[in-house]
Amino acid sequence: MNLAEVAKTRCGKEIKDCTNEELYYSLLEMTKGMAKDKVSSEGKKKLYYISAEFLIGKLLSNNLINLGIYEDVKKVLEENGKSLTEIEEVEPEPSLGNGGLGRLAACFLDSIATLGLNGDGVGLNYHYGLFKQVFNNNLQSETPNPWMEKESWLTKTDVVYPISFGGFNLTSRMYDIDVIGYDNRTTKLHLFDVETVDESMVKDDNINFDKEDIKRNLTLFLYPDDSDDAGRILRVYQQYFMVSSGARLILDEAAARGCNLHDLADYATIQINDTHPTMVIPELIRLLMERGIGMDEAISIVSKTCAYTNHTILAEALEKWPMHYLEKAVPQLLPIIYELHNRIAAKYEDKSVAIIDDEKRVHMAHIDIHYGYSVNGVAYLHTEILKNSELNNFYKLYPEKFNNKTNGITFRRWLLHCNPSLAKLIEELIGPGFKKDAMELEKLASFANDEGVLDRLLGVKTEAKAELKNYLKHTQGIELNENSIFDIQVKRLHEYKRQQMNALYVIQKYFEIKEGKKPSTPITVLFGAKAAPAYVIAKDIIHLILCLQQLIDNDPEVSPYLKVVMVENYNVTLAEKLIPAADIHEQISLASKEASGTSNMKFMLNGAVALGTMDGANVEIADLVGEDNIYIFGESSDAVIDHYAKSDYVSRDFYEKDEDIKRAVDFIVSEEILKFGQRENLQRLHDELINKDWFMTLLDLKSYKEQKEKALKDYEDRRTWAKKMLVNISKAGFFSSDRTIQQYNDEVWKLK
Ligand SMILES: *Cc1c(COP(=O)(O)O)cnc(C)c1O
Repeated sequence: MNLAEVAKTRCGKEIKDCTNEELYYSLLEMTKGMAKDKVSSEGKKKLYYISAEFLIGKLLSNNLINLGIYEDVKKVLEENGKSLTEIEEVEPEPSLGNGGLGRLAACFLDSIATLGLNGDGVGLNYHYGLFKQVFNNNLQSETPNPWMEKESWLTKTDVVYPISFGGFNLTSRMYDIDVIGYDNRTTKLHLFDVETVDESMVKDDNINFDKEDIKRNLTLFLYPDDSDDAGRILRVYQQYFMVSSGARLILDEAAARGCNLHDLADYATIQINDTHPTMVIPELIRLLMERGIGMDEAISIVSKTCAYTNHTILAEALEKWPMHYLEKAVPQLLPIIYELHNRIAAKYEDKSVAIIDDEKRVHMAHIDIHYGYSVNGVAYLHTEILKNSELNNFYKLYPEKFNNKTNGITFRRWLLHCNPSLAKLIEELIGPGFKKDAMELEKLASFANDEGVLDRLLGVKTEAKAELKNYLKHTQGIELNENSIFDIQVKRLHEYKRQQMNALYVIQKYFEIKEGKKPSTPITVLFGAKAAPAYVIAKDIIHLILCLQQLIDNDPEVSPYLKVVMVENYNVTLAEKLIPAADIHEQISLASKEASGTSNMKFMLNGAVALGTMDGANVEIADLVGEDNIYIFGESSDAVIDHYAKSDYVSRDFYEKDEDIKRAVDFIVSEEILKFGQRENLQRLHDELINKDWFMTLLDLKSYKEQKEKALKDYEDRRTWAKKMLVNISKAGFFSSDRTIQQYNDEVWKLK
């Protein structure tokens, strides 16, 4: 197919006369057509990656890259006076995920397609996705983010299923998005939707709606507010709707390939992405029994079919549903859940491994571990913590089920697409092989002392910084100094990720500059983060950062040397602009709390140097690049776990004993800041840091500041810094999601 023809047929015009919108929809139609012509993978056994989130980002450019026609299309457009970058801006970004977990699922689909594996994604088609973040008066507010247009990447299918809930039934319909692999086949992302969903329930740019009207609201939003019962029960409805639809699809497709249900495990394998899809286990058992299979055998079949990925050790994120929620929403599952519980209770006295606890809550992860064939963590350290502490009681029962799959990212999106200048330089140096085999990036190591190459690498970074400057100016009205050091922390706002620590550093730097100690190169500290709508302290941290931004912008003594920017509505599109421009990236979670992190991998690949704790995949990054090429600080995960066990961390001691810490913390409620902010929010954050500080910010603040100063100082020696950049890029190959998916397949799924 050819763009000029599509444009002619659709719009009756030549490319040069089309608007960017007309060209976007023409490209969409053309790309969808080309994807349809590609074969999907086949094979006896098929993988279903079930996930409540797929943070896919915009698809146009990636699809063009993976189809191998990006350069041609770009050239044709340029010849007609059009810019692909501008056309891309027409595409709305679907926000079908919160952060890392959803983005991981999207990277995995890209790699599954690229490796030609027989596997599809299964999820939900949220009409408004996650909320869109807006800032007013230095506070976050939330508005809906509609992304489905009359024409989109979604294709409506004829697949419909009846789904029953306590007291009513719904019809689900499957919509598909083609996932185009790099230079290979396509797979599909199946998104289920309710026929009766009603977008008019969402009014006035507000994310509130009637949470009880399930028939009309089920797929409106991703994870609606869970601060009350109605919001939490809605999640249960969503989860069951997703897994019941998915389970029916799996059984139908397996039957179509000749499966007789007794041998389901030879035809299907299900990867349960975190606990959200856990109900697929009892639901599949129920459906198998409906089709005539006995309970014992149904349990045994499903236990050979399902595998579970754990993404967190944070207790509040490990789902435990009160029995009465399930009784109300999915009464048909109760007999099965009781049976699953009773079998475990009869076998193991240890209550910590029970499915239903004494408070009548169902521990979803426990179902996954007892009745799945594989349990994996997402980075070396995370899996070790699961085995040795968090899930140790389970590990003792089933050591053979536990395995590690260190996360990865797709290099198509996070290098070829987001940083074409860097990709071009790399290709010139080591040839195109790295595009298919990421480990070939190691060949870059031979240029570590080549001054010409190092200077060009710096040139590519400077160019990306200038591009970010332009982009933020025209989209958000933000002014950046491209000659400053870009120090970037972008990720969901959570206390364990410790954006508050970075903010406290900014305050300390502000004092220094006020006192006349000016940095040799100006510093720009960039943040991007959404806070969950009901997460009060997270929103207070955003408030503090926005107040600091305004305070410093308004202070001519400080603003030439230090700038704070919190970009609005951080999403995949912004990530693609920010990451190539970073000099330093912050991965400063409290050790033991970040399961893996994946933005750390994206930044490394784009030649930024990490400032981080020994947490998640940072441990593996540090191991690969060596201590000269990363800035590590803070207490170890062992020490942190020990502090929790002994309850011996007292933040107030750090506050009272260290004058610098006290001064920075107290500045949060100073007259200077209160000029721009709300006393209630700032006071609450101040008190939280002194009286609780559950994620031990003050514990690590001093060593954090020391390492950051070291990084800023090292930045001054440009060639030595460029060498650090080069080493980071050259060692990033391990973090390709192609490697991760190959390991899942070799060790867990065993497709082909
Ligand atoms: C990669 C990515 C994340 C994950 O970031 P972490 O720092 O690993 O938590 C979150 N949001 C977006 C938009 C991403 O692209």
